Amino acid sequence: MSPEPKPILNVAKLVKRFGGFYALDGLSFHVASGEILGLVGPNGSGKTTAINVISGLYAPDGGEITLDGAAIGGVASHRLVHRGINRTFQIPKPFLSLTVRENIAVALAYGRAAVAPPTVAELLDDYRLAGVADRPASDLNSAQQKMLDLVRALATRPRLLLLDELAAGFNPAELDWIAERIKALAASGMAIVVVEHLMGFIEHITDRVIVLNAGKEIFEGKLAAAVREPQVIEVFLGGEHAA
Ligand code: ADP
Ligand code: MG
Repeated sequence: MSPEPKPILNVAKLVKRFGGFYALDGLSFHVASGEILGLVGPNGSGKTTAINVISGLYAPDGGEITLDGAAIGGVASHRLVHRGINRTFQIPKPFLSLTVRENIAVALAYGRAAVAPPTVAELLDDYRLAGVADRPASDLNSAQQKMLDLVRALATRPRLLLLDELAAGFNPAELDWIAERIKALAASGMAIVVVEHLMGFIEHITDRVIVLNAGKEIFEGKLAAAVREPQVIEVFLGGEHAA
């Protein structure tokens, strides 16, 4: 085994409260460039909140977030985009009245200046949006909106990409294709955090997973090992996932 690469993102004892409720209750993890880390856990366990806090949508109430060793907790989203962090949304939020092409152009103009941008045409082709390039984003189906959201994030040239249930709503062939795209992004050096309920997809693309429950990590390691942990099994089978 090669030595562990230095993490680009380090999260230590992260806390996020909503009123008296702890959505994140001392979460710690790290991810390195080129690595795909899975963040899994039952509904309400804090996965989206973790992405929201790391991407600057919410300020943390405790703990530390560092990007290449520099503290970034509480830094606003638009500043973090310029420093190389971007994310997708569980429910995408494109500019609905702009065309697909215009949505991508806005993100390209907004991205990290230090990195040469891809062209709109490349992004449209690479993510299968060329056929709808000149349609308003409001015309897209939910899978296309997810792809546009991914392209919007990629257009800003992130070093750390946070994906919140990107794969939900795709058919198996599309899932294979998206998995390969995500792996190619990691192979190019991007650090990627993937939140996903589809365990086959997680198994296929991640190097390592963190299992969350009630805002806390209950497991860190390979998914294959996670599914043998009694505590993990209980969390997934005991509650709302029993059905
Ligand atoms: P997950 O993505 O793992 O399903 P979330 O991070 O969305 O979970 O939510 C974790 C918990 O925090 C849930 O109980 C949710 O209701 C609560 N929560 C998330 N965002 C907010 C918010 N903006 N205001 C109040 N409670 C919130
Ligand atoms: Mg969520």
